[in-house]
Amino acid sequence: MVSKHAALRAAVPEELRDWVDNRLISAHIRMVKPMVLGSMLNAAMIVIALYAEFPAFHLVSFFSTMTAACLHRVWLARGVARGRRQRRTEKMLLAFQMNSLWLGLNFAGAMAFWLPHLSPGSQLLLAICGVTQIASAAYTVRTLPRAAALYIAAQTLGLGFGLASLGSWSALASIVVLVSASGLLIRMAFVARDMFITRILSDRELAASARTVRLLLNEYEASGSDWLFELDNQGRMLGVSARFAEAVGESVTALEGRKFEALFEQGSARETLAETLAEFRTLRDEILPLAGNANCWWSISGRPCYHAGEDRVAFRGVISDVTVQHLAESRVHHMAHYDALTGLPNRALFNQSLGELLDETEECANLALLLIDVDHFKSVNDMFGHPTGDAFLRAIALRISAAVDDSGLGGTHRLVARLSGDEFAVVVTGDSACDHGVRLAEHLIEVMLEPMTIEGHELGNGLSIGIALAPQHASLKQQLVSNADMALYAAKNAGRGTWEMFEPGMDAKLQERHALTRDLRHAVARGELRMFLQPLVDVATETMTGYEALLRWEHPAHGLVMPDAFIPLAEETGLIVPIGEWMIRTALTAAAGWEGEQTIAINLSPVQLDSPNLLPVIVNALAESGIDPTRVEFEITESVLLHNSETNIAVLNRLHDLGVKIALDDFGTGYASLNYLLTFPFDKIKIDRSFISGLSSREDSRAIVGAVISLANQLGMCTLAEGVEDAEQLASLRAHGCQMVQGWLFGKAQPALHYHPVPINAAEAPIVAAPLRAGNTAPQPPLTQTYSRRARG
Ligand code: C2E
Ligand code: CA
Ligand code: CA
Repeated sequence: MVSKHAALRAAVPEELRDWVDNRLISAHIRMVKPMVLGSMLNAAMIVIALYAEFPAFHLVSFFSTMTAACLHRVWLARGVARGRRQRRTEKMLLAFQMNSLWLGLNFAGAMAFWLPHLSPGSQLLLAICGVTQIASAAYTVRTLPRAAALYIAAQTLGLGFGLASLGSWSALASIVVLVSASGLLIRMAFVARDMFITRILSDRELAASARTVRLLLNEYEASGSDWLFELDNQGRMLGVSARFAEAVGESVTALEGRKFEALFEQGSARETLAETLAEFRTLRDEILPLAGNANCWWSISGRPCYHAGEDRVAFRGVISDVTVQHLAESRVHHMAHYDALTGLPNRALFNQSLGELLDETEECANLALLLIDVDHFKSVNDMFGHPTGDAFLRAIALRISAAVDDSGLGGTHRLVARLSGDEFAVVVTGDSACDHGVRLAEHLIEVMLEPMTIEGHELGNGLSIGIALAPQHASLKQQLVSNADMALYAAKNAGRGTWEMFEPGMDAKLQERHALTRDLRHAVARGELRMFLQPLVDVATETMTGYEALLRWEHPAHGLVMPDAFIPLAEETGLIVPIGEWMIRTALTAAAGWEGEQTIAINLSPVQLDSPNLLPVIVNALAESGIDPTRVEFEITESVLLHNSETNIAVLNRLHDLGVKIALDDFGTGYASLNYLLTFPFDKIKIDRSFISGLSSREDSRAIVGAVISLANQLGMCTLAEGVEDAEQLASLRAHGCQMVQGWLFGKAQPALHYHPVPINAAEAPIVAAPLRAGNTAPQPPLTQTYSRRARG
């Protein structure tokens, strides 16, 4: 057994042996005082008890030897404790062993030689004292088991010898018990020593790893960008480091003991943090802004410590400054959800929010969706450039937001978003959403009428608004948006600057529009296009000097379709290019066949001017028809000069070079009209019908017509007034010096045949000669709607 224990001690690494032995000695030194006191007390008891039975000399020498041995033990212990002993550990162990033997032999001698000579009572006392001494040795010297063994063995031997000399059976039995008990005690001393070694070694390992951890943590605290924190069970900060205090911007003393969550800005994230701490749950990457510094974001992770009590660490964690990542993430999030130009929610966020609102309104609460389109925004962009266009959009966004805010809708939920270019959306919810939606639409249109000055330009613009209601019109997002879109389309068709509420029939109208576009694709190939002519009249002589070619579409189902109903569609789809080409060829071929020198005027859409095919087509048609180019006139609108103006002016110059004439159509309906007279040497200015109809009643119309005519005359341009319907208008125009007129007073647009019967040699031009149902009274197309969006300006 002993050898097994020796093996354990031997298993202690060489370099630790001395350390282990020292710890064993130290552990014993702590027991020296009680051991010495106990031994002295025992010795004193023996001396007093045996005083009457033994010569004093025996007792004195016993007691003084005892005292000397005890003093020696104390001296050894003190020497070790004060570090005076520079002796090797092994020698110290030996010294303790020798002292133990000394003590043991002293007692042993007393018991071996005195016991047989005492009275039975004193024998009992001495035996008890001996046993006590053995037991106390086993306890007080247990960390030095060899010393304990010597001590115990010597006393056992002494006591055993004494008992043996009594010669009785009971004394012999006592010897057996004594020897077995002593053996057991010696063995226990070795076991106790080994347990002690095991414990101090594991303590040592634990301390080492704790030191390493502390070292690492300190380094982490000092060098890293992160901070460690510790809280008590009330969520108050403990052990605040100076670096942490510096990051918070307060002193260590101010932070120590303060509630941790108070460091952060109030809000839901802080509440979550407080709850998690209060419930001792684990925190994982909770991101919060620092109180009073929203530009500083911290991520917090941590876990509770279960041994927590008052004043103990109950929660430990780490804080990282994630400001940079957080701001970058929020910027990306913002960019993905907000429009960069106006700062309003974009289409993505709008879709998401509308979806959420519709989910909320499942219980059939009300919601009104307003889709808003800025009228003629493209012209602003074209005319003043994109920077002005952008500034204009920003101003519009501000105005819409302000109008929504002060529209008196009270607590109802409102959402304003920019969906694309010049398209905005507003959502109103609440029981009176329908009412509020309509009132808001009217308010928006009204506030938009007020002109605004953008980069020195005074811009006034109307809004067209389409409204759809949930759940009345649709409860699904896609359907609701599409319904509002149809209503918007209707508002634009109703002349813009107005709002329309979705109606179930609108769907059908849109379908009709799709069908019309589809049919239009085949119109040229199927020979469904017709050329009508309207006379152009010289004011002085009141003779027809030429015609304007006007397009009609003989639709197999709808009958004769007017250009306003399909030209915008043709422009949107690009079909105007082949249609326009058909018109150029047809008109030139027809005019070439006329007897006389009458001119032919052909309308050109801006889309056609953008087409690289336009010049080759015209050159070709001129050559094929053989018409004198001076009899040919092309009508363009102001928008041609706004959009791509340099390229377009180059095209117009090339046309001029061919000898054809260029007229400016619908003059006065666009922007800053008079300026455009200077951008290109037009041959003719066609004053828009809207001014002519106002001639007799409106002073401003008279003034504008007068100014245009006089300026055009000065520039050497011919003036033609459109839409002259009565003699009074003619007289007024004549008085202003207008040279030409066109209008119902002299003739409506009629099939070409009406003015020019088919020439014999033009039989190969069947399109021109195509039969028509009616002349002057062409049946109105039974279309439910005219599509009057005029891209021409
Ligand atoms: P526009 O070029 O201004 O043509 C004049 C329009 O005024 C014609 O309408 C004509 O019928 C109408 N009009 C003429 N005199 C009077 C009058 O005294 N009173 C009234 N109330 N109206 C009168 P239309 O034929 O419906 O043409 C509408 C527009 O369609 C044209 O306006 C033109 O912009 C476009 N358009 C017509 N044909 C073509 C074409 O071949 N190509 C292109 N690109 N556009 C065309
Ligand atoms: Ca025209
Ligand atoms: Ca016109």
